[in-house]
Amino acid sequence: MSVNKAGIENAREHFAKLLAAQAERLEKMKEPPAPVDYAGVRPLKIGVAGGDGIGPVICDQARSVLEFLLRDEVKGGGVEFVNIEGLTIENRLRAARAVPEDVLEKIKECHLILKGPTTTPRKGDAGPNIESANVVLRRELDLFANIRPVRVPEKEIDWVFFRENTEGAYLLGSAGSLIGDELAVDFTVATLPGCERIIRLAFDYAVKNSIGRVTAVTKANVVKTTDGLFLDAFYRLASGYPEIESDDWYIDIMTAKLIDPARRSQFKVFVLPNLYGDILTDEAAQIQGGVGTAGSANIGYRWAMFEAIHGSAPRMVKEGRDKYADPFSMIRAAALLLQHIGKTGKAARLDKALDICGQFERRIAVTGRPDGATAAEITAYLQEILVRDDLESRWEEFRSGRGR
Ligand code: NAD
Repeated sequence: MSVNKAGIENAREHFAKLLAAQAERLEKMKEPPAPVDYAGVRPLKIGVAGGDGIGPVICDQARSVLEFLLRDEVKGGGVEFVNIEGLTIENRLRAARAVPEDVLEKIKECHLILKGPTTTPRKGDAGPNIESANVVLRRELDLFANIRPVRVPEKEIDWVFFRENTEGAYLLGSAGSLIGDELAVDFTVATLPGCERIIRLAFDYAVKNSIGRVTAVTKANVVKTTDGLFLDAFYRLASGYPEIESDDWYIDIMTAKLIDPARRSQFKVFVLPNLYGDILTDEAAQIQGGVGTAGSANIGYRWAMFEAIHGSAPRMVKEGRDKYADPFSMIRAAALLLQHIGKTGKAARLDKALDICGQFERRIAVTGRPDGATAAEITAYLQEILVRDDLESRWEEFRSGRGR
């Protein structure tokens, strides 16, 4: 069926409803709640949701490392781990909800969530075509910042990506219009408060960590309205941080520059709209050793969720290889959780232990197949490194090339 008057009228009505909802959302964003002060929360509840596919295997390993590092806090009643069941694809399909109501309630009772990857049905799959659980959780918990660090100390790569997490191409990704059979339109949304809060977070992070450069990545030369708003906000806010160098690049050339050895170590903190952030961080993770090595923090004012950057890897499960999945993505996420609640010393130690096991010493390695270590074996190796007294000096030896 080609485009006709009725089709255009329906799409117009649909667009009007979307705009009204976005205008309402914008007004709410102008009065953000005060961020949680974790120092005053007792017990701090960490919900653990294994997800599906390889999720439960790698999430269990991350939980065991966190429980070890927070054992005194748990014993003293300052931290409590809470099991969150029901975020599996089977349960979500049964409830025909991306995140069933009772599961969402349980998640909201926690302060922090350690979450395994969750499968999203593809168009044409059997059962209800539910939305991505992640998109729903990011929206429901208003987790507006997706922070994804990538580090390769030997190559002097130490990047932190601040990906806008609630807007862009994802917010209305399931609400596009197909007019007739031949005309498809999707919507990309940016709001000024949405751009400003992620940009500010990136600059504040740079200040707090004495990092002298923040780089925006957009395609504002082509996607002029939404990316244009983002880029204008970036330079306007940058003027309030005169001690920090600010620059911007287009997403296409940035994908090339990340693999340019002459240039890449000069980049430090990136801030970028949702879709570009999603894509660029997978490339960055590959430079670190693969998506199985990279974790992320989803930060909002009231809640924060920590997870791998990859998905549920259903093929690995189908081929019986889930126990060979790399848990380091989830364990890096656990390090971000520690950093987020102010346990910066423990977070740094965990990151260094991960560097030693995964990049430097590599006594055993995960390959995703039976010729490599299992998730449990590599975690046991990590635990062994984590308790060594000489961890810091070993790391420094490796980083400087003396440890080889
Ligand atoms: P994927 O990220 O799940 O996996 C792609 C491939 O990467 C795997 O087949 C595997 O070879 C490798 N891989 C990923 N993680 C690994 C690990 N920890 N160890 C070893 N190898 C690993 O991508 P996909 O197949 O496109 O997505 C599968 C499902 O996950 C989809 O339903 C998708 O929607 C969902 N997904 C969820 C999240 C999330 O929950 N945050 C993110 C991305 C995708």
